[in-house]
Amino acid sequence: MGPIESLREILKCREDIKLYPKYNRIYASGNFYWTGALNYGLDRGNQPYYCPIGWQRRSFYVTDNFCERFKGWCICYHGTKFKHDLSILLSGLKPAETKAHGDGIYASPSTNYACHPRYSEVKRIKSSSRKLFFKSGNYVQFVVECRVHPKYIRKIGKETLGAEKPIIDSNIPNDSIEWVIDYQNKSIVDFNDSSASIVCSGLMIRVTDDHPGLLPQSQSWYESHICNYPKCCALGIDLEHL
Ligand SMILES: [Zn+2]
Repeated sequence: MGPIESLREILKCREDIKLYPKYNRIYASGNFYWTGALNYGLDRGNQPYYCPIGWQRRSFYVTDNFCERFKGWCICYHGTKFKHDLSILLSGLKPAETKAHGDGIYASPSTNYACHPRYSEVKRIKSSSRKLFFKSGNYVQFVVECRVHPKYIRKIGKETLGAEKPIIDSNIPNDSIEWVIDYQNKSIVDFNDSSASIVCSGLMIRVTDDHPGLLPQSQSWYESHICNYPKCCALGIDLEHL
């Protein structure tokens, strides 16, 4: 499924499940923007929440009284490739198959880590679809925004891209950029289950004119891991062009 068809399907299905446009956001200077950890508004648990600069959020309806129900739950992100999007968004999250930090669902407090092309596919937007969905831009990436209660964060571990030195996210140390979430021994953590350890609260979208591999915040790709094998790094173009 291509990115546009995928997004159309996501939005169509999520229309049935309910989008929550009141909480859609554009995270950029002049819109929703802050520096450092956000310390007002919702109680977001024991982990800092930094501005996911350059991303937009399409917010999902999760439940009535969301603020009360998820008081103290932390925000994290889960990178997705397009073949997984629908199954993730409509049903839940599967435990990771690659388990560098043990069994669980892998997420990150950093959009910049979650969107590494090993986790989040880069797709070129066809010109015919551009105006309809994105207004402008040539490339798109998605990551899923989730909420997790601190008690379900089984482990906070180091990055697994081989990035010993490069800074992946200026706000978050490399040694605490991967979270392993308790999957409660389920083959899939169902978002409709009120006792789920992690819920999906939105879809983060980044649209760029140039390939995201050319963004300054993507420099760590080249100092850690990046490859031309599409099943590993879904760059959407040949690495030689970056
Ligand atoms: Zn790779």
